[in-house]
Amino acid sequence: MNNKGIIVVVSGFSGAGKGTLMKELINRYDNYALSISATTRSPRPGEENGREYFFMSKEEFEKLIAEDGLYEHACYVGNYYGTPKKFVQEKLDAGKDVILEIEIQGALQIKKKFPEALLLFVTPPSVEELEKRLRGRGTETDEVIHGRMLRAKEEGQGIDEYDNIVINDDLDTCVKQMHEIIQAAHFAPSRNKEFIEGIRAQLSELK
Ligand code: ADP
Ligand code: 5GP
Repeated sequence: MNNKGIIVVVSGFSGAGKGTLMKELINRYDNYALSISATTRSPRPGEENGREYFFMSKEEFEKLIAEDGLYEHACYVGNYYGTPKKFVQEKLDAGKDVILEIEIQGALQIKKKFPEALLLFVTPPSVEELEKRLRGRGTETDEVIHGRMLRAKEEGQGIDEYDNIVINDDLDTCVKQMHEIIQAAHFAPSRNKEFIEGIRAQLSELK
């Protein structure tokens, strides 16, 4: 079997619980690496440069684009976000499954570049719960929350592009389900082309 890691794209409405889920996944299992994105948005209280994001100015971000240093990038509610190439490649080569927690425009760019990437969409059990979580997080103004809810309305239209939906109701159950989905994905024929070719080559020797 193929020991290389796979790219796992995780998208979902802001406030669905992606960040919380990713932290748990990384803590519980040691086969995952979380890609650290670059962004032009300001750090939230408690966020550190180089841990949650590489926080940078618009000029610095545009330089990264010009140098072809990103696998994908997108504008989300007025700020740039993008995936630096280097870290992702190093971790894949080391056999880790690399998780890209990115929004839908970026997810579709990754799907085009890496057709074997696994695309997961995280949703809360209801819109009421989504708003409750966004407000409960207490990190955004009412105006930003409203912008993110409207964005969720658009994003809901794109769910069909994903391979699996992940419903984040009970956190513990959801983390386990996510791990199972990712591990099962390793066994898809599209992610084991070399192995299949090897078996076919052996079979072709049969008389
Ligand atoms: P996202 O990264 O998708 O924007 P967060 O991980 O920041 O979302 O979660 C938004 C809020 O919802 C946080 O306050 C978090 O503690 C809470 N939350 C996450 N998952 C659950 C869950 N399964 N049940 C209840 N609250 C949750
Ligand atoms: P937040 O500001 O809440 O941390 O993130 C806002 C949105 O940007 C989320 O939907 C998150 O998944 C997305 N995002 C974070 N990093 C990237 C990235 O590198 N590329 C893209 N396209 N989206 C990202």
